[in-house]
Amino acid sequence: MLSDCHMHTQFSPDSEADPEAMIESAIAKNLDAVCFTDHEDKDYASEGNKWTFDVDQYFDRMKDLQEKYRLKIPVRIGVEIGLQPHLGEYYRDYVRQKPFDFVIGSVHVVKSMDPYYKEFYEGRSDADAYEETFAETYENIRRVEDFDVLGHLDYVTRYGMHKEEEYSYRRFADIIDEILRYLIGHGKGIELNTAGLKYGLPYAHPHKDVLRRYRELGGEIITVGADAHKPEHVAYDFHKVPEILKSCGFRYYTEFVQRKAVFKNL
Ligand SMILES: [Zn+2]
Ligand SMILES: [Zn+2]
Repeated sequence: MLSDCHMHTQFSPDSEADPEAMIESAIAKNLDAVCFTDHEDKDYASEGNKWTFDVDQYFDRMKDLQEKYRLKIPVRIGVEIGLQPHLGEYYRDYVRQKPFDFVIGSVHVVKSMDPYYKEFYEGRSDADAYEETFAETYENIRRVEDFDVLGHLDYVTRYGMHKEEEYSYRRFADIIDEILRYLIGHGKGIELNTAGLKYGLPYAHPHKDVLRRYRELGGEIITVGADAHKPEHVAYDFHKVPEILKSCGFRYYTEFVQRKAVFKNL
């Protein structure tokens, strides 16, 4: 039994899920706990959808559900903030305004472009696009301090023209090591995000070689999330998680309660 600490609901523009249906799905799958992490992506690249939500409404709704499910499953209130180098101050204030349990920092925008779109790869190799994304990730985590774990570290590799073909830990070891060392040195963690498997990659994010390296460098904080946007995707492929983590040297996984790491046996 694990906790799913990365999921979205109708408070995110890319999900229509009723938070209650997400909780019911988690209970049906016997999870230990859930943590909602809707998108707060200030200054998101493209026009149209606003990638932010009303934080008062969010807390009202989630608090009600916490109470309603009190005896069945712990419901925690988190957020996935979209990291960009100029947003350090914004997020410092943002996360302090409410008692969040957990803050994921994720890179969804690289130099004002979203790596989800094909234009990001035009006129260059996937490897170049990945390198730029990792470099931007490193820049972001030095500029924005107010998060607990870095989200889906190598998720850009699911969107490249040739997906994982031009990706391996070794190929980007220098920059990935910088990211991992910085996170470890600043008391932050990473997450194991099973959406990679859902997108047809042969690995969850990040790749096992990165997980192993993180552990080798002394990394201990690792949360687990499916990044579900629909109830049926809660805890996606979680049966594979203990083996993935154990084979990379982990004996524990992590949850966050009131921004504090709690370690649980695998
Ligand atoms: Zn994300
Ligand atoms: Zn997410």
